[in-house]
Amino acid sequence: MEKVYDLIIIGAGPAGLTAGIYAGRSRLDTLLIERGQDGGQIAITDEIENYPGGLSTPENIESGAALIARMTAQCQHFGVERLSANVTQVELEGPIKRVHTREAVLEAKAVIIATGAHPRPIGCPGESDLIGRGVSYCATCDGAFFEDLEVYVVGGGDTAVEEAMYLTKFARKVTIIHRRDELRAVKSIQERAFKNDKIDFMWNSVVTALHGDDGVLNGMTVKDTKTGEERRVDADEEDGMFGVFVFIGFLPNYELFDGIVDMEYNYIVTDTEMRTNIPGVFAVGDIRTTPLRQVVTACADGAIAAMQVEHDLASGAYD
Ligand code: NAP
Repeated sequence: MEKVYDLIIIGAGPAGLTAGIYAGRSRLDTLLIERGQDGGQIAITDEIENYPGGLSTPENIESGAALIARMTAQCQHFGVERLSANVTQVELEGPIKRVHTREAVLEAKAVIIATGAHPRPIGCPGESDLIGRGVSYCATCDGAFFEDLEVYVVGGGDTAVEEAMYLTKFARKVTIIHRRDELRAVKSIQERAFKNDKIDFMWNSVVTALHGDDGVLNGMTVKDTKTGEERRVDADEEDGMFGVFVFIGFLPNYELFDGIVDMEYNYIVTDTEMRTNIPGVFAVGDIRTTPLRQVVTACADGAIAAMQVEHDLASGAYD
């Protein structure tokens, strides 16, 4: 007979890893599936300023990668089985849930969905063609390619402003392009950005087209949101190119569950115990409807869901 896990967790970001830690500690037979690298968006975040206990200072920066590496090790320490695979289909109704990958069909009594979100693109002409050729969604991954060049950061939230500051380590100048005349980022982050001589601001502006005549990004069209006027910004002739880093929020990775679990605006609806509308199926972290999407809330979700699975299994709720 095929093995039936107590629990399959889909996604190894902070929410999925924490669910793994709690499930492992409860001695649940747990499989954690991740298609890429552990950590999701946090793994590519240069600095985590607000995760409790991880005080980040200029001398000792708490990076997303370091935090995630500790979570991954903790998960392994508690005996969680790991699988690197892309989940292609799920069958969630009934007492035995089936999770399909290209190679196998895996079975469990409960499933925790922790598939997170991905960066929202601008959606303008030229953007998709120039990804990796000047357009990026990850400062940690691509910042070093822009040593001494000009870089533009699109967005006005915490991510945009923090990543803009990180990019000043490499770029000659970083210009934040924001659609309003006031940043959304929290004041402590704003204060540091306003003090940074290498950061400039282009207020009331949106990027409406990206241009790359020689296969690299060397121009963009920017529209003034107040006047509607459009103008072209070109790379310095000597540079031949510039970078555009896009940080305008995130979109949920919901497609696998579309039409299967209840959603609102493509986010999975849960109750306070992280239960979806399907018995034995939970959703945690950025994929679910929640008023706050932070590492700390994702971790809390993961812990709550794993403990509910443990209680349910102990009380025979899925039998
Ligand atoms: P966010 O807070 O949703 O901010 C998105 C930014 O992009 C906003 O400034 C928004 O403009 C702008 N925007 C959205 N759609 C746009 C479009 N189509 N064109 C141009 N601009 C657009 O996203 P985030 O900064 O990634 O943060 C996500 C969550 O993570 C937040 O809760 C944040 O607090 C948290 N976070 C925390 C930290 C930290 O504490 N260290 C670091 C990173 C992220 P408007 O302001 O006009 O809406």
